[in-house]
Amino acid sequence: MVNIYRPETLAQALDTLSTGKMTVFSGGTDLMVQHGVRAGMSPRFEDDVLFVDTIDELQYILTTDHEDENNQEQALYIGSGVVLADIERNPLVPSILRQSVAKIAAPALRNRATLAGNICNASPAADSLPALYALDAHVVLSSIHGQREMPLKDFILAPRVTALREDEMLTHIIIPHHDLPEVFYHKVGTRAANALSKLSVAGLARIKRFPKKAPVIEDWRVAFGAVGPTVVRSRELESLVIGRSVETLAKPKFIAQVVDCYREIIRPIDDQRSTATYRQQASLNLLTRWLEGLSRS
Ligand SMILES: Cc1cc2nc3c(=O)[nH]c(=O)nc-3n(C[C@H](O)[C@H](O)[C@H](O)COP(=O)(O)OP(=O)(O)OC[C@H]3O[C@@H](n4cnc5c(N)ncnc54)[C@H](O)[C@@H]3O)c2cc1C
Repeated sequence: MVNIYRPETLAQALDTLSTGKMTVFSGGTDLMVQHGVRAGMSPRFEDDVLFVDTIDELQYILTTDHEDENNQEQALYIGSGVVLADIERNPLVPSILRQSVAKIAAPALRNRATLAGNICNASPAADSLPALYALDAHVVLSSIHGQREMPLKDFILAPRVTALREDEMLTHIIIPHHDLPEVFYHKVGTRAANALSKLSVAGLARIKRFPKKAPVIEDWRVAFGAVGPTVVRSRELESLVIGRSVETLAKPKFIAQVVDCYREIIRPIDDQRSTATYRQQASLNLLTRWLEGLSRS
């Protein structure tokens, strides 16, 4: 028999998690599909179910100081109970994350589904992930033994596999403060709403401007979704663009060189939503558009 738990506090939830294997249930929008639930049918869960949507402590979006081993800086904290609709509307949330969240499913689902669920589901097509990777987001995992914080890129290990231990739940997402005003986001799906990604691209950049010489790309990032087992992002390839003048970006030969490097690491698969060939070419076309757009800014 499966037990159902509905804790009201985080401490109660963590206590419950320490007693055995559970399914943490936030919005349930992925879980209900995974458990084959149809109208009029009851869900069939193998493990006990811990509902966390009733915990008020996990409902916050705020900016505060964040300390790591190197420094202390402002960061945005998003509690794991916050639903996508609230993230989409909150002006504290970086525009690239708001744009990507707004492309998930349709409004009714975004009123129920959480960012934490989108992350923990660890789908290669999860739409919030490219933006979160580009923003260098971290996750905080909590258990009765304390908290662990890690970069999101280390948390997601493979499709549907994360570094979450059985006695832990994700309690918040941390987004370090960034000054990256140039934003590029594009999701390719079969229709505007309720379509999982064929692919998506998230880009961020900062251009430094000088009184007497050409502007320079001070920071530049790009992350690709749904074209690999998880998000594709390479700091090494980003360094090809960082430090270049904006004029260099206007040269087709330079763009072609960068695109060729990304062609080597974007190796999608064929599946029911798209072909590998389409996914790779469309991703590289969007990369070209991102670089060309910056050369005009
Ligand atoms: C019709 C439909 C359309 C969709 N369209 C899209 C789309 O366009 N783009 C997209 O990215 N996704 C889409 N999804 C998938 C889904 O809605 C999202 O992934 C959503 O963000 C999941 O959030 P949730 O709170 O409902 O997660 P849940 O279903 O509650 O949980 C998902 C997984 O995360 C785990 N989990 C949840 N919260 C925690 C926590 N705090 N700590 C530890 N583990 C946790 C659960 O145990 C489960 O494994 C769609 C789903 C449906 C049904």
